[in-house]
Amino acid sequence: MLGLLRQRHTLQSPQSAHILIDGQAYLSFCSNDYLGLANHPRLIAALQQSAAQYGVGSGAAHLVSGHTQLHQQLEGALAQFVNLPAALLFSTGYMANLGIVQALVSKGDTVFADKLNHASLNDAMLLSRATVKRYRHRDTVQLARLLEQTGSGRKLIVTDAVFSMDGDIAPLPDLLTLCEQHDAWLLVDDAHGFGVLGEQGRGSLSHFRIASSRIIYMATLGKAAGVFGAFVAAEQVVIDTLINHARSYIYTTASPPALAGAVLESLQLIVEGDEQRAHLQLLIAQLRNGLRGLPWALLPSDTAIQPLLIGENQAAANLAVALRERGIWLSAIRPPTVPAGTARLRITLSAAHSAADVQRLLETLDELAR
Ligand SMILES: *Cc1c(COP(=O)(O)O)cnc(C)c1O
Repeated sequence: MLGLLRQRHTLQSPQSAHILIDGQAYLSFCSNDYLGLANHPRLIAALQQSAAQYGVGSGAAHLVSGHTQLHQQLEGALAQFVNLPAALLFSTGYMANLGIVQALVSKGDTVFADKLNHASLNDAMLLSRATVKRYRHRDTVQLARLLEQTGSGRKLIVTDAVFSMDGDIAPLPDLLTLCEQHDAWLLVDDAHGFGVLGEQGRGSLSHFRIASSRIIYMATLGKAAGVFGAFVAAEQVVIDTLINHARSYIYTTASPPALAGAVLESLQLIVEGDEQRAHLQLLIAQLRNGLRGLPWALLPSDTAIQPLLIGENQAAANLAVALRERGIWLSAIRPPTVPAGTARLRITLSAAHSAADVQRLLETLDELAR
């Protein structure tokens, strides 16, 4: 038994720090709801009001008749929020990545990718039919060498901003410098930075204070933003190219307008969320300090994603089961999601957690370590 079989469990409560699964109450450390907005009363009210005004289904693709005023308004607000000229909504982050890469590069072009990028970026590269060159995790020296060896065609560097299974941050300023030196574009997937990093949660570009017409910024709206969907922000010509060539944008039904209404409210909450972000930072420090004495290594991460490296698949699975028996819901992440031999418990913290919640996790892990 490899301990690799994937199984689902049924949630019987809203997404939150405290959840109900299969009739049992758990303290959960495995959602991406970093600001605790998924069940926020203001988002619920915004969704209800938008549905009352615009109905439920969009009924058509954006380019046919599904693009409502709420979608339009949200695209403007998102572009402004991340300080880029234009934005475009996609139904999901997975589809956004497929659409962006496929629309911008093809045969004869080259995509340069961090080895630990999200699966959606990997799939997108394959679908684009561009040449793929993967560099070691965060290794800009190897990336520079690969760029030097590449001749004609368009060049696109793609990277997670915050790596989804490791929690560390890509060296975006260095990547941007390489883009300038080699006339390349930079696709930044900020699924785990949007709403959390940077001034007022404006994301990883704000975190590093970088801006460039070479950047194609993508973020999801189902994680810190607490709703659903994704968007791309970039120069207007890039957005126009996506509208005309991104197949996962063109050939699919627009997401329900009420979701756009909810995200508009979520942007407000994110801007007002300095207290939540400060609380999240305190929890991260509490967890890292508290885990120091344990036999398992914590990966070097400053973000809400705090992976505890276990190693063997079965050991990670056993630990997750033992935690569940003690009322704590955590997922073991195993290959192929992460490299073989690096099975881990991916602890994610949320502003919805209290210091007492984190203390309970620490005490339980301590008990299991002995
Ligand atoms: C979650 C995630 C996505 C996919 O976004 P969805 O909206 O869930 O489809 C893409 N990239 C990264 C890094 C992610 O973590």
